[in-house]
Amino acid sequence: MSESTLPTTSRQLVFTERDAMAVSDSPVPPTGDDDVLLRVALVGICATDLHLLAGHIGDPFPLVPGHEFVGEVAAIGPAAARSRGLAVGDHVAVEMLLPCRSCARCREGRYNLCEADDMALGLERGRQYGVNIPRTVEPGLWGGYSEYLHVPAEATTHRLPDAMPWERAVLVEPLAVAYRTIQRARLSPGESVVIIGPGPVGLLAAAAARAAGAGRVIVAGTRDSRLELARRFGADAVVNTRETDAVAAVRAELGGLADVVIEIAGVAAAQQQAVQLARRGGRVVLAGACGANVAVTFRADEELLTREIDLLPSFLSAGGFEPAIALLGRNEFPFTELVTHRFALEQTAEAFATIAAREAGVIKAVLEPGLRRPAPLDGRAA
Ligand SMILES: [Zn+2]
Ligand SMILES: [Zn+2]
Repeated sequence: MSESTLPTTSRQLVFTERDAMAVSDSPVPPTGDDDVLLRVALVGICATDLHLLAGHIGDPFPLVPGHEFVGEVAAIGPAAARSRGLAVGDHVAVEMLLPCRSCARCREGRYNLCEADDMALGLERGRQYGVNIPRTVEPGLWGGYSEYLHVPAEATTHRLPDAMPWERAVLVEPLAVAYRTIQRARLSPGESVVIIGPGPVGLLAAAAARAAGAGRVIVAGTRDSRLELARRFGADAVVNTRETDAVAAVRAELGGLADVVIEIAGVAAAQQQAVQLARRGGRVVLAGACGANVAVTFRADEELLTREIDLLPSFLSAGGFEPAIALLGRNEFPFTELVTHRFALEQTAEAFATIAAREAGVIKAVLEPGLRRPAPLDGRAA
């Protein structure tokens, strides 16, 4: 696409206020010297987006949601082209984090913990696409539920192989989140891993653990269909925690407890169970978001102190994009089977209802902002 064919407006799905959404146009300004304009090809719908709409994550309204986007460079300023090595038409992933790059946390590489407060926005933590930058902040293209996205100098871009289908590429952000859990676990080859929560990130964590050289990988959850899928994402064994005592099942499978347990279910009971499934001196990665003000209790002496369990929270995707792109490129797992539903922006409410009701075998639903007509009724791509 050449610069001259760029539209002057971008259709967006806007959370106008809590529990209210609308499709409307936003002006697309000329692309600045340091900036990239991304044409969004696909954007994954995340549980976070549903929580945002429900008002569980602050008051960022009006907000264009969407942080799991991939697309192509529609326009790029000369300085951005030089510094990023990108050109119009390149396929890219953009990280959701817009870190300051100068605070102590950013300098040590933990830019997901950026400490720069942005008082102009009233933010106490780093800016995140689709989460905490209101649409009223110029140029208003701060979320992936949009035909176009503004990519300023502080954003992090990653080139995607041209041949990688968007349906696979759109998993890069959840896979990057999965990779961070593996990095936080300091997983060594041959170590056993239990993953609790076979949602998209949990399934991808099984693949990432397998790719990182894990020994036995066990996925625990409550839905048999997901657990069966987990086997195809690298799990050697699965445990239905509704039917089986998880500690006994893991002991039977491993001959002991796990070296590493990764919790990505986002419920307190799963976090408690994660600690119980780790061996003495083992590591537990807590990656599931449980919601505001949820307290988790552990038996301090019996479960933690006397067993020296390392508790390692893992937040967002920092550091995970490059290994995620590499793994998606190798295509050793049935990634695209995770993308079960595709919708147009106008169908966002329908998509959210499908996800909330866990209908129609939905695993990962995505929006295609460029889709001008509604997708077929089953939501799948034609
Ligand atoms: Zn997400
Ligand atoms: Zn920072």
